[in-house]
Amino acid sequence: MQRPWTARDKERLAALYLEGNMPDVAAIAAALGRSYSNVACQASRMGLAFTKRGVNAKMRRCIRQCGRDFWSEGFENRVCPTCKRSREYLECA
Ligand SMILES: [Zn+2]
Repeated sequence: MQRPWTARDKERLAALYLEGNMPDVAAIAAALGRSYSNVACQASRMGLAFTKRGVNAKMRRCIRQCGRDFWSEGFENRVCPTCKRSREYLECA
């Protein structure tokens, strides 16, 4: 049973993600006391890419209604992955 992700946990995840030159999911999972898949899943939910990191990348607040903080790769990236997915879903339906 995994603990739910609180706002504080997410901040910690983002901070750990920013620490190294290359984010290490296994190390972050160990630091947070969570499983690798739990961290990887939450990271992708927040839009944290473990492969690339742009110079303007940082945590930003979604401009849509949801108001979630998510990992944004640049100024043009202002909609969180969850909202993007729901929009794509609507367009495809
Ligand atoms: Zn959103």
